[in-house]
Amino acid sequence: MPEGPSIVILREEAARFARRRVMRVSGNSTQDIERMRGRTVREVRSWGKHFLLGFDGFSLRIHFMLFGSYRINEGKATPPRLALGFSRGEVLNFYACSVRFIEGALDDAYDWSADVMSDAWDPAAARRKLRARPEALVADALLEQGTFAGVGNIIKNEVLHRIRVHPESRVGALPARKLAQLVDQAREYSFDFYRWKKAGVLKKHWQVHAKSTCPRDGARLSFRRQLGQAGRRAFWCDACQRPYVDAPAPRAPGRRYPAVATPPRKMKYTAPRMHSPAHR
Ligand SMILES: [Zn+2]
Repeated sequence: MPEGPSIVILREEAARFARRRVMRVSGNSTQDIERMRGRTVREVRSWGKHFLLGFDGFSLRIHFMLFGSYRINEGKATPPRLALGFSRGEVLNFYACSVRFIEGALDDAYDWSADVMSDAWDPAAARRKLRARPEALVADALLEQGTFAGVGNIIKNEVLHRIRVHPESRVGALPARKLAQLVDQAREYSFDFYRWKKAGVLKKHWQVHAKSTCPRDGARLSFRRQLGQAGRRAFWCDACQRPYVDAPAPRAPGRRYPAVATPPRKMKYTAPRMHSPAHR
């Protein structure tokens, strides 16, 4: 499934269609795709995992879901969901994707500051959104498109390994420093993903995703087919990714790691000696 960086690469490849007229339209989409015939592409944009072609008054939104793909100036054996033909025989083909139209201006439809690869990305806004959902698992929070548009399952697994946080940690139990790392790395890893993907070396940079051994310490990785509310595949290292859970966290039955209480943070002042240790 294409994650945000792959959509940015598509946006760059499709930039050549900006200011050009759609001359042919075909495909098995049930949407009113004919409305694009004869219209000029005004802008080529993306938001997270959404690829967007702006026309006067409306935009085409492509979401690749789990199995979608695209081809430019070539085809596949399967019929396209949508094919847009341009001059000089050029064609933009989309397969097995969701096709929708957005009426009106894209700036009214999207919060660009939530897109981890956008120039408008706002890390402070992301931290605020996270703090508003303290009960969420970090694995679910990273996949929340309203907070981290473009982050998909690979980026989720890799970011959590990079910042040494267990996927079942609670957002509200993360120290401020870890929360900031989570937000910063969601963007930074996305740009690494983008560079590696363009160079054709993405998979060899995976540390935990679809792997069995932690490159950091050699420990055998843990795997869950469905983790969190998102129910997505999770790969992590119990040796170097620490669970942050509120104490006393309600312990879910069947947890694979012992519910470790977060150790008390160092206080900024010295508590009076007569206080019992329980109040530290
Ligand atoms: Zn490890």
